[in-house]
Amino acid sequence: MTDRRIGSVVIVGGGTAGWMTAAALARFVGGEQTTVTLIESDDIGTVGVGEATIPTIQQFNRLLGIDEDDFVRATKGTFKLGIEFVDWGRVGERYFHPFGSYGVDINGLDFHQIHAKFGHGVGAPLADFSLPTVAARDGRFDRAGEPRSPLGRIDYAYHFDAGLYARYLRGYAEAHGAIRHEGRITGVARDGENGHVASVTLADGREVAGELFIDCSGFRSLLLGETLGVPFDDWSTWLPCDRAVAMPSTGEASLAPFTRATARVAGWQWRIPLQHRTGNGLVYSSAFIDASAATDLLVANLAGDPLGEPRHLSFRAGRRVRPWERNVVAIGLAAGFLEPLESTSIHLIQSGIAKLLALFPDRRFLDVERNEYNRLVGAAYDGVRDFIILHYHATARDDSPFWNHVRTMAVPDSLQRKIELFRAKGRVFRYDDELFSITSWVAVLLGQGIAPSDYDPVVDALDAARVPDALRAMASDIARIAAAMPRQTDFIGRHCKAV
Ligand SMILES: Cc1cc2nc3c(=O)[nH]c(=O)nc-3n(C[C@H](O)[C@H](O)[C@H](O)COP(=O)(O)OP(=O)(O)OC[C@H]3O[C@@H](n4cnc5c(N)ncnc54)[C@H](O)[C@@H]3O)c2cc1C
Repeated sequence: MTDRRIGSVVIVGGGTAGWMTAAALARFVGGEQTTVTLIESDDIGTVGVGEATIPTIQQFNRLLGIDEDDFVRATKGTFKLGIEFVDWGRVGERYFHPFGSYGVDINGLDFHQIHAKFGHGVGAPLADFSLPTVAARDGRFDRAGEPRSPLGRIDYAYHFDAGLYARYLRGYAEAHGAIRHEGRITGVARDGENGHVASVTLADGREVAGELFIDCSGFRSLLLGETLGVPFDDWSTWLPCDRAVAMPSTGEASLAPFTRATARVAGWQWRIPLQHRTGNGLVYSSAFIDASAATDLLVANLAGDPLGEPRHLSFRAGRRVRPWERNVVAIGLAAGFLEPLESTSIHLIQSGIAKLLALFPDRRFLDVERNEYNRLVGAAYDGVRDFIILHYHATARDDSPFWNHVRTMAVPDSLQRKIELFRAKGRVFRYDDELFSITSWVAVLLGQGIAPSDYDPVVDALDAARVPDALRAMASDIARIAAAMPRQTDFIGRHCKAV
């Protein structure tokens, strides 16, 4: 049989996307037959942010066989149980978007529907039925939870230092055979027959040839966007934030097991607790506030004393219409960008890598594989887009031109339908393998102030004499399990404290 295997993969870029891709490809396709090479430029550097994740990252680490404590220690990381949203629906209000689910479904009914009918009588808000939410309130974390109880499961993710994460993955990728070149790419050569990228040339004249190219070059999208001209689908009509200013501050004595996102006059501010410092940044729309006012706002609201100078970043929400074109697959910022409100970029990198592995090409580069990749990755970005827009649009805030704009703008039909279904009877459906769970949608829809007018009528078939006691038992189990968990600061001290 003809050997059609790809002999050389070249990854352009050594940020989070490049090194995650290099680690996975070196581990799963690299070897005698296939070389995995990565090119990065110290002069250009990386975007250097991207420090909060969602639970799917555990799957990536497990796939690579990474030891959790070693990983958290090396990246000076902490654990994350969800995101606290402050001042989003209205100034003065806050809500928690937890990982995991609320309560236990009964007769196939989503728990929030049951709670909508019985919760008031029981006197416990929906949040009391989520173990991560209750634990987070008190700064507690334990990865085990209580596995014997259906309520005791803990879903969690990590916060980590982006630079240390890339370094950690580099160590892993190189140990698995990835080859690294340092240098700035100044030229790209294409095959005259099929238009494939054939090689890249570095400033010092070195030429690196390959059969499959992974474009992880960041916002510039050097191969997919610049060289192959794949258009960018711009979503800034719905997501007008296009700038960020980031500035770390001194770490906090008590490590909160969650990211905080606080809405501000023309955007929002993140706070990410790490072991050695706190990550802070303000994401904003330059149409509504300028860089110096944004920096002042950030500095005035830092979690501790500033460490270093403010870093300014520009971006555009949207994605390349085809992340895989000819023999180039873009992963990371080169494929698209959605602001970090729900910490989804690193997940989208990992999901791109998983789909690439599932559809890994041979030298024929079959259209059917490329098209499927483009369909799946496109749907993954689109699903996240609607969820992010929801946070801006569903608000009662009318205290600034920015909030008036996002509150009154038209949103994609797919999101409008979701909002209307929820408003009618609290129903939520997930489409096309979408990332966010029903719990996520419910947490954010309710948190942003969309109250259903009614609950699902099927709930009326439940035994009204028994359900309230079942709910009381669930809430007290959760409170008990949470109270037995250690504080995250102690947990880290015991298992994975960075030296
Ligand atoms: C403000 C902000 C906050 C964010 N927060 C989060 C978050 O909390 N969670 C999350 O999941 N994601 C977050 N992200 C996204 C996250 O930072 C990125 O998805 C992630 O860092 C991946 O970036 P990248 O590797 O694609 O690009 P980059 O980090 O920009 O890396 C690009 C690489 O390409 C190389 N390169 C470029 N051009 C050339 C050339 N000509 N020659 C050689 N090398 C070249 C560079 O040297 C670099 O190594 C955030 C992004 C922003 C902007």
